[in-house]
Amino acid sequence: MNRIGVIGGGASGLMAAITAARRQNTEVFILEHKEQAGKKLLSTGNGRCNLTNEKMDTSFFRSEETKYVEEVLKQFGSHEAITFFEGLGLMVRSRNGYIYPRCEQASVVRGLLVREAEESGVRIHTGVHVTEIIPGKKGFQIQGEHADKTARRKERYYAHKVILACGGRAASVLGSDGSGYTLAKSLGHSLVPVVPALVQLKVKDHPLKNAAGVRTEASVSALVDGTEVSADTGELQITNYGISGIPVFQISRYLAKALYQKRRAEAVIDFLPAMSEAELTEYLQKRSMKERRKVSEYLTGIFHEKLTLCLLSLSGISPKKQAKELSGDEIRRFVRQCRHTVLLIQDTNGFDNAQVCAGGVRLQEACCRTMESRYVEGLYLTGELLDVDGMCGGYNLQWAWATGWLAGNAAAK
Ligand SMILES: Cc1cc2nc3c(=O)[nH]c(=O)nc-3n(C[C@H](O)[C@H](O)[C@H](O)COP(=O)(O)OP(=O)(O)OC[C@H]3O[C@@H](n4cnc5c(N)ncnc54)[C@H](O)[C@@H]3O)c2cc1C
Repeated sequence: MNRIGVIGGGASGLMAAITAARRQNTEVFILEHKEQAGKKLLSTGNGRCNLTNEKMDTSFFRSEETKYVEEVLKQFGSHEAITFFEGLGLMVRSRNGYIYPRCEQASVVRGLLVREAEESGVRIHTGVHVTEIIPGKKGFQIQGEHADKTARRKERYYAHKVILACGGRAASVLGSDGSGYTLAKSLGHSLVPVVPALVQLKVKDHPLKNAAGVRTEASVSALVDGTEVSADTGELQITNYGISGIPVFQISRYLAKALYQKRRAEAVIDFLPAMSEAELTEYLQKRSMKERRKVSEYLTGIFHEKLTLCLLSLSGISPKKQAKELSGDEIRRFVRQCRHTVLLIQDTNGFDNAQVCAGGVRLQEACCRTMESRYVEGLYLTGELLDVDGMCGGYNLQWAWATGWLAGNAAAK
């Protein structure tokens, strides 16, 4: 009997365990240090779980190894993920390509995975924190600490193969506390530096602080040492410490990496991405000539009042000025400010506020067909532990399902 130990009962661990247990002559157990497997899944997609996405190619994943990601997705893409979940009895629905359970309940996704694992014979040991994995001639010795209400007991487990599925260190309250990186390093693996991703940004001398609480459609670009490296459009949220919202999440990993490398990190906001600079200038020139109101009042038809006041102040225009008295130069300055507000980024929020991590075990150190370690035979690596991060939209779970499936299949062979 081939005994497989899966370390971590999150998305990729559950997928790996189910896939392996469905094969003949395998005995699979999961060691999970939280009180339940799949705890993080409950929080995904705001409790609705964005499982995957119909639009699936390497452009939605951030990794220097595009070919590697492509190879993984070729073997297990969104179609395979949807088929897998439909096989568990989940009906899914697409919202512009974003796939959710039809019932919109992440708890159902978690419940189906745990039930399928148990019905396939997987033993799930919760409350076991794995501290060491020791490879030997015939397999692995796994050291764990079992924390119950009264004491911490040391425990040992044995497996012929080990699947390391501990996740990264984002949202540690949900289980992934970074211990997977320590375990991977102890087994000879190296890491691309790990930084928070899909995370809010903190702004130095925040020029939009007075607009905290405002949500508005905007384009946000990430600039590293003055060069644009990424951009996204969507609902921007201005906070008292900086900026948040999906477009900020999407670009955050580039700025997090830049900050780690001590480079200049800036976010440039275009508050009116749907209009060209010339169109906006012409519109304001025409409108302001006829206006009898103060400039702050007439601009509230375009922006939230708090944001209008910030933009006027940054353009050096008094909000009390009559709109029709605006000079051509003032209009140009205001237009420029609307299209190009530069924010100096001093930090990101921490790992506990991030949805995922960028960085992790170098991809070249695991085979893209099996996820087996190139250093330790019988060891497999999955999910967020690896140096791939996806954009918002179901891509991180897709990566977890795909790598879990590959590892589970290969380990059970
Ligand atoms: C709030 C939030 C919302 C998200 N929403 C989405 C979404 O809608 N769509 C999407 O695609 N992605 C989403 N993500 C990202 C996605 O959840 C993760 O990328 C994915 O779960 C990673 O899977 P994984 O198996 O690698 O790690 P995880 O799911 O984090 O699982 C790792 C497991 O290992 C356990 N573990 C860790 N170390 C040890 C140890 N030493 N011993 C024993 N057990 C250990 C942990 O407790 C955990 O259960 C979201 C993330 C967060 C935080």
